[in-house]
Amino acid sequence: MTRRPWNFSAGPSALPQQVLQTAAEQMQDWQGTGVSVLEMSHRGNAFMQIFEQAQIDLRRLLDLPQDYAILFGTGGAIGQNAIVPMNLMGKKAQADYIVSGSWSEKSAQQAGCYGDVRILASSGKVLEQDGKQYPAWAWFPGIADADDWQVRPDSAYLHFCSNETIGGVEFADWAALADRITAQSVGGADVPLVVDASSNILSRPLDIARTGLVYAGAQKNAGAAGLTLIIIRRDLLGRALPVCPFGFDYTKMEQAQSMYNTPPTYAIYIAGLVFRWLLEQGGVEAMEQRNRAKSRLLYNFIDQSGFYVNRVHAGFRSRMNIPFQLTADADGSLSKRFVQQAEQAGLLELKGHRSAGGMRASLYNALPLQAVQALVDFMQEFEKRYG
Ligand code: PMP
Repeated sequence: MTRRPWNFSAGPSALPQQVLQTAAEQMQDWQGTGVSVLEMSHRGNAFMQIFEQAQIDLRRLLDLPQDYAILFGTGGAIGQNAIVPMNLMGKKAQADYIVSGSWSEKSAQQAGCYGDVRILASSGKVLEQDGKQYPAWAWFPGIADADDWQVRPDSAYLHFCSNETIGGVEFADWAALADRITAQSVGGADVPLVVDASSNILSRPLDIARTGLVYAGAQKNAGAAGLTLIIIRRDLLGRALPVCPFGFDYTKMEQAQSMYNTPPTYAIYIAGLVFRWLLEQGGVEAMEQRNRAKSRLLYNFIDQSGFYVNRVHAGFRSRMNIPFQLTADADGSLSKRFVQQAEQAGLLELKGHRSAGGMRASLYNALPLQAVQALVDFMQEFEKRYG
């Protein structure tokens, strides 16, 4: 078989070859049952085995304490933008948000439908450089100024996005953030952290034990679209507003073991295969090593080049999503050419998000160092040709 092209998509994105192969082999007959996972009752013995193993493996991968529940939901991270406030705001009817890019901006906007939302730090303002305007999250130094934040002690939670997939802005030191919140909140009140970790969950060890809730769409580092991972500290259950649909009420979901309604069975099965693969590879610690090496290779190349640029503040550069621009490409035509020629060279999905322009390479767990090396080689060639 000829090698498949390298897929740099931001999500849904590349899956481990081994996962695809196992899924293909088991498509028509899961382990001698004579049925496909697609055809199984979610309450039958066979699916329950898949389901329970996936939970056990995810708990192990995340080193999750017992006082956290895992819920397998639907509706994506966008759904959580409404589901979180409906479940957590409770009588306090207020929450604080950090806006570090377009995903957390959407989260804050949606939460405003359910209560009083204060944005503590925002990257939303526009900056100018070289006569061009960029949204400030292209650099986002704002999160570094956490000392200025005024967390309201009566807020039900503080929400942030740990990796902005479009802007390529990552904040992974959750413990430091939790410490700052305690220090900054008036009276040292305990305001739980709520994290949208859609695009960096499972890419490195993350301090979930310092949070109240973590959610993530599965379609990047955990398999297929359609499944939303929700990890909640159990003491935050039981607060849903009456307006919350029962199927999205964390308490009802937890009581029904994620089967209040039919869960996304096939996406759970694929996530289970990914979790198994991750454990075999050495877990999130091993992923961190690989992801550090992959992202360093690309950043180092970009930084030594005068032809390409990544504008994210050095302390907040994402290891998962690396946007980059050409330093001279006034009408965008050279970027277009880059993406086209890269595709012909077997490097897919490098077009930047429509709001950011330029290029973006997403380096999720399933993408090996070899793929990043191929990208860097291509970038070097392209620079020689057009630089
Ligand atoms: N948050 C982040 C950080 C994301 O990357 C995305 C999707 N790319 C979303 C939220 C929205 O997720 P979904 O489309 O699964 O609802």
